[in-house]
Amino acid sequence: MSVIDKCASYTRAREAKAAGLYPYFLNFDGRDAGTARMADGREVVMCGSNDYLGLSTDPRVVEAAARAAERYGAGCTGSRFLNGNLELHDQLERELAEFFGKPAALVLTTGYQANLGAIAGLCGPGDIVFLDKEAHASLIDAARLSRAKIQWFAHNDTDDLRAKLSRVAGTADCMVVVDGVYSMEGDLCPLPELVEISDEFGATLLVDDAHGGGVLDKGRGTSSHFGLTTSVPLITLTFSKAFGSIGGAILGDEEVIDYLRHNARSLMFSASASPSNTAAALESLRILQAEPWRCGAVSDNADFMRRELTALGYEVGASQTPIIPVEIGDGVSTLLAWNLLIEQGVYVNAVLPPAASPRLRTSYTAAQTEEQLHRAVAGFRAVRDQVLRVPAHV
Ligand code: PMP
Repeated sequence: MSVIDKCASYTRAREAKAAGLYPYFLNFDGRDAGTARMADGREVVMCGSNDYLGLSTDPRVVEAAARAAERYGAGCTGSRFLNGNLELHDQLERELAEFFGKPAALVLTTGYQANLGAIAGLCGPGDIVFLDKEAHASLIDAARLSRAKIQWFAHNDTDDLRAKLSRVAGTADCMVVVDGVYSMEGDLCPLPELVEISDEFGATLLVDDAHGGGVLDKGRGTSSHFGLTTSVPLITLTFSKAFGSIGGAILGDEEVIDYLRHNARSLMFSASASPSNTAAALESLRILQAEPWRCGAVSDNADFMRRELTALGYEVGASQTPIIPVEIGDGVSTLLAWNLLIEQGVYVNAVLPPAASPRLRTSYTAAQTEEQLHRAVAGFRAVRDQVLRVPAHV
């Protein structure tokens, strides 16, 4: 037996392809903020991107990326720690810290690496990481990498967290790790209670604000939305969503950030974010401050879709953000629904276990036009009777 033997008997993806139901690794041939062109030339309304503010195709962001590539090259070919650091990375750190209201920031190459760096950089054997059951995969991987003990608590259940934390408080150093906005459900963490419990038991709270940063509270994120930025010791961010680029950051106190700068292995042993990605993130950060209407627009667009989908009879969960999950049923009916929607010119993301229970993950952007949203609604209306088991009431 070898470790590659299992690959030959892995048939799940092949079976889905054979059934014409495979929804992954689709080729897109071009896109703007609200639509995408598929490889066969068909245009779909994009209801599945994380480009919440519509900045990934903004001409100013694209221009900043192009200028940086011309000036510094396509890549930095090294870690920030050694030859890969640019004034651009340092400038982005200063402006992130200022905007998000934390003393210091550390820029890494992805949000995934920001989580690895913060959690595995600070926690180790003997420590305990408390993870929300719905925490993002990168947070789980980070906790595993740290070799700290992992203790799960029920999703957003602060009573469960309190009970579990109170049992071990004083016997180990603890970190509480949550998403600010949960990526599959679109719900917020109960931050005031999490801050209170973490403080009470001396645990360090980390909020991964991949989906709240740049979106909530005029872009200042989940902690600011609750008025608790100074009470959250560690915040992580990604530039692959509202910032329309690639990269990630850790925000915290000066000495913690300085420690991570010299100890986070995902920073030290990986090449720095490319000049163009870093410049794009910086330009997006400046634009979102100058154009706070974008945060209002994405929220209005999502509210519109929530109302329309609910009126059509779809089950949309408890989301308060631009992420709207649409529950269809089991995996096969979810894939069938995904396929029918694509035929109607609407792209959504099909999510299957182990990522989350089966659902269509829909998400919206500030740049979507009324006409595009109406096209999306028309698509959902056209497939409704085939997709929903309950009789339609509209
Ligand atoms: N945290 C959360 C909650 C996410 O949803 C994601 C991306 N899906 C990440 C972290 C990782 O971010 P990145 O794409 O920058 O690696």
